[in-house]
Amino acid sequence: MANKNLSLNRFTEYPTYLQSVCKKVLSKVEAYKSSHPQKKIFMRAFGDTSQPLPTTVVRALVDAANRLGAPHTYTGYEDPTGNPRLRQAICTNYYQKKKSIDLDPEEVFISDGAQSASVNIQELFAPDSKVALQNPTYPAFVEGTLLADRQIINLPCHEENDFMPKPPEEKVDLIYLCFPNNPTGAVATSEHLQAFVDYARSCQAVIIFDTVYSPFIKTPNIPQSIYEIEGAKECAIEIGSFSKWASFTGLRVGWCVIPEALTINNTVAGELNELWRIRHAIKFWGTANVAQHGAIAALSPAGQQECQGIVNYYLQNARLLRDALETIGLKCFGGIDSPFIWLKASQSLSSWQFFEQMLQLTGIVGVPGCVFGNCGEGYLRLGALGHREEIEAAIDNFCSSNYQKSYLLSNKRVSGSYKTSLSK
Ligand code: PLP
Repeated sequence: MANKNLSLNRFTEYPTYLQSVCKKVLSKVEAYKSSHPQKKIFMRAFGDTSQPLPTTVVRALVDAANRLGAPHTYTGYEDPTGNPRLRQAICTNYYQKKKSIDLDPEEVFISDGAQSASVNIQELFAPDSKVALQNPTYPAFVEGTLLADRQIINLPCHEENDFMPKPPEEKVDLIYLCFPNNPTGAVATSEHLQAFVDYARSCQAVIIFDTVYSPFIKTPNIPQSIYEIEGAKECAIEIGSFSKWASFTGLRVGWCVIPEALTINNTVAGELNELWRIRHAIKFWGTANVAQHGAIAALSPAGQQECQGIVNYYLQNARLLRDALETIGLKCFGGIDSPFIWLKASQSLSSWQFFEQMLQLTGIVGVPGCVFGNCGEGYLRLGALGHREEIEAAIDNFCSSNYQKSYLLSNKRVSGSYKTSLSK
């Protein structure tokens, strides 16, 4: 029998329910395509990657697969918390060498990407935990919290506070923070993060820090890990991924750090770490061993250099797109230390109206900001993780029509059908 407290209505009634939003975006694009077959469409909506795996990674994957295919080198089940060499490489090559953060490999758990870890981690906490979420935020944090039937406390992020929330005014138990942020592209300074760490330590809350996009940070002195902040190991879990900077969206490797020092209320040091170890062994038993060998290679000096090339490529895409949009006077946020541009509607259009306007006038498809929470109303998220040619074609198309430019800024109506669709 289904859990009587868990009803699908909880999701379908929620405005950010991702399944229905994706369907709605795609069906609007399909409808537009069929009524305008000659028009080009530029999908800048979803956050999937386009660049191939680094050659160092491919070589490691092939070698690992060959070892599995030979009788004397075949291996089966491995450590459910992840390949020890990978956990060590994350400690040494990702945290120590790049950020001077000391972690023990026992504090690192390998997952099949960041998403499952960031949502499943809620299992460690009491059923009545209150969960604070940035608004707008990455939808999985919202839906994972709804799935767990927990109360959401909103931390509004808008232009006036530079999309940087303040710690909650009330007592919460969990706080999801994501920097560089998806969708706004905002990054947090040490001072911003210190305020959250101080809050969490003062009221026994745990921060779940999503660093999926931290390799995109180029601005000096912007923390790339919550553990750069004093006291964070006592109150924060960090979740990372190889998805975006190493092209692992299909291979699926991420990690979760649960420091030994992390405690809440009645737990002792190391207890949450040990509970997560048990949870891994019971419900997961690790991500594919071949993929983990690829991740080890991504963290080698050659792999990191190639991955840096991927990150720079996407950041250049973002810069080109942002420059083009700003040239005609549209207000953009993000896109500097992040592959996402948070584009403000030029008039008081709703997110869905702005989505339609961009689609119809420029062929560019973004994600309406309201999908990420009501504070995203009036914005559109554009992703820059695509091929350069597509980005350049979108920019050319966008810039080549003076009529469309002036239209975007003046909010005139083009035709009856456009008016109709906007008013829906
Ligand atoms: N966290 C954020 C903020 C994301 O944007 C994404 C993917 O788009 C994920 C997590 C999921 O990453 P992964 O592919 O590692 O599961």
